Amino acid sequence: MRRLVGIMQSLTPARIKTLAGVYFGYGLSILLRRPIVVSPPSFITVEPVCGCNLQCPECPVGTGELGRRKGMIELDVVDSILESFGRHALWVNLYFQGEPFLHPKLHEIVERFSAQRIFTSVSTNGLLLTPEIVDKILLAGLKEIIFSVDGASEEEYLVYRRGGSFQAVVENIRLLVSKRKKRGVFFPRIVYQTLVTSANEKNLDNIRKFAYRLGVDAVEFKSLNLHHGVDINKLLPSTSKLSRYKMAKAKREWPNACFRLWSNAVISFDGRLALCCMDKEVAMFYNVNNMNLSEAWMSLHFNGIRNGMVSGRPIPDICGSCSL
Ligand code: SF4
Ligand code: SF4
Repeated sequence: MRRLVGIMQSLTPARIKTLAGVYFGYGLSILLRRPIVVSPPSFITVEPVCGCNLQCPECPVGTGELGRRKGMIELDVVDSILESFGRHALWVNLYFQGEPFLHPKLHEIVERFSAQRIFTSVSTNGLLLTPEIVDKILLAGLKEIIFSVDGASEEEYLVYRRGGSFQAVVENIRLLVSKRKKRGVFFPRIVYQTLVTSANEKNLDNIRKFAYRLGVDAVEFKSLNLHHGVDINKLLPSTSKLSRYKMAKAKREWPNACFRLWSNAVISFDGRLALCCMDKEVAMFYNVNNMNLSEAWMSLHFNGIRNGMVSGRPIPDICGSCSL
């Protein structure tokens, strides 16, 4: 309900036209088997911070395996993203490879997107919230916050969120729920997200009940993405329906072209366009990042990758093994 209301509030004639253009371009590309892009993306992902305060074992940031430079987005980069895509984007995910609340000006970033009536969503490990920060994000008009809490006990939680504290994140969820109520505001939608692992797969009902008792609006279970390709940490659940890897062998080619390449632009903290959220190193567009974002989105290089998707020609390795 909250999400739907938030999306409705973001709709403008320009954004409806863009969304129609995204679907039209995608449909036509599949039909003609060549890439047609007629509009900017309706969805954007912006990385406030590359870096984290935790050491999760299947996250390239947490393990220190991410090769690219760490850092925080500058506000002028946010402004240039808004200049390129702000009029057309319906939704922005303010997270990619790192913990967004490490950014001391996260509330200002949210404010900039809110000022253009773009739906803002933040995903966080929830450990850095304080009463002051909660006040600031409530005032900034954040529409959605996703807390990553992998279980309903410290024991379950610490299997994945290494370096974190279950009690601390639960207290911070309580804080946000109570401040939202006290202020009488409708947003943000609060989501309790649990990564399903071998440690919590048998406790999902209890986790759901526990989370709703805290006062969250939604509970989501997410499948694990294995950064190492094989389950060296023995984290995969035993039931295949709780694992995204049952489909991992499905190769992406026509007519299974990835809609994200027509709909969602992913931008790193230093303002570079990534192929998608699986391009964690932002390594696919080495030759287009001297262009502005709109040019890069429409570039021959990007269309070459889209072309592989719709025509059955070679596609990037990361797509061949993509688990999304
Ligand atoms: S909290 Fe998120 S970004 Fe940080 S190490 Fe864990 S998975 Fe990675
Ligand atoms: S890696 Fe996956 S999400 Fe990214 S473009 Fe390829 S198929 Fe789509």
